Amino acid sequence: MRFLITGGAGFIGSALANHLARQGHRVRVIDDLSAGDPGRLSSQVNFTRGDVADKPKLWRLLNQVDCVYHLAARVSVPESILYPREYNAANVGGTVALMEAMRDAGVQRVVLASSGAIYGQQPEQPVTEDLTPRPTSPYAVSKLAAEYYVNTIGALWGIETVVLRIFNAFGPGQAIPPTHAPVIPQFVQQALGGGSLVIFGDGTQTRDYVYIDDVVEALAAAATVRGIDQQIINIGSGHETNVHELVEVVERVTGREAQALHVRVESGGVSRLVADLQQAGHWLEYTPKIDLETGLKLLLERDPQFIMAADTEARSS
Ligand code: NAD
Repeated sequence: MRFLITGGAGFIGSALANHLARQGHRVRVIDDLSAGDPGRLSSQVNFTRGDVADKPKLWRLLNQVDCVYHLAARVSVPESILYPREYNAANVGGTVALMEAMRDAGVQRVVLASSGAIYGQQPEQPVTEDLTPRPTSPYAVSKLAAEYYVNTIGALWGIETVVLRIFNAFGPGQAIPPTHAPVIPQFVQQALGGGSLVIFGDGTQTRDYVYIDDVVEALAAAATVRGIDQQIINIGSGHETNVHELVEVVERVTGREAQALHVRVESGGVSRLVADLQQAGHWLEYTPKIDLETGLKLLLERDPQFIMAADTEARSS
């Protein structure tokens, strides 16, 4: 098959692109490199630098594409609180531009990477796809708006759409930006470097951490399953982990005892979030295979930034 992956030089997109290319598919990537790194992509993947709202560029890249994966987005909850207009432009405007270009090029299917963040604060856990979304940040609003645009425009124009609500993905290749870094690579880096693990609030908040290979399997399946048009599907691990439990696993896997530093809770987060996976099992035959501890071990083995950190640690101790 021929695929275009928007945001394909990012963490999830590059893992997906390399996986599909290994399976013999033709893979094109468009990424503006605002957060991505084309160095993550194998030589089999065809990379173009560009904005997902650049329709002339998209027309060219969409030529003879069977399925688009739409992953291009700004992805930080705290940053979205500071710059909501930018998040709206990239995540909502970019999605609508892509749908227009797909219509023009006659592409049949799009798989949207949405987020578990759209659920917000829910009294019932695990969260099922039919719950009313209660987004608590501009990021979550933008992902929910993208879902509505994709499904609404898709139905009007005859484009098949699949929405995957991904929970907290982690694994090799996830960048650690200087501000607002994702919690898992941040904790691992801090633990290996002997720094403190910064915990927002009392550490009882929970998340659903899902390993990258499981996410990639779900994305890959979503391109070809029949009768899946308009479905919205959670992709997580199905396990709820609080921050204290996460710290314990990080300590076990790194072999370092870490100092926890509690700071004021940030806005935009929720106290509990875990995915119900029945729809994922039904539609995609999805069962997560890698638990948190195994995933963290793989992260240490496979992510160059941690292999180097672990080596430096070993040399200095
Ligand atoms: P990422 O930041 O690594 O990847 C996003 C990519 O999109 C980056 O490479 C960035 O350069 C690119 N990009 C941003 N704006 C763009 C634009 N206007 N035009 C072209 N490219 C643009 O993040 P990720 O974790 O790989 O996330 C990928 C997708 O999955 C996002 O849509 C995100 O909302 C979604 N998602 C991720 C997670 C997670 O835990 N990582 C969870 C839920 C949903």
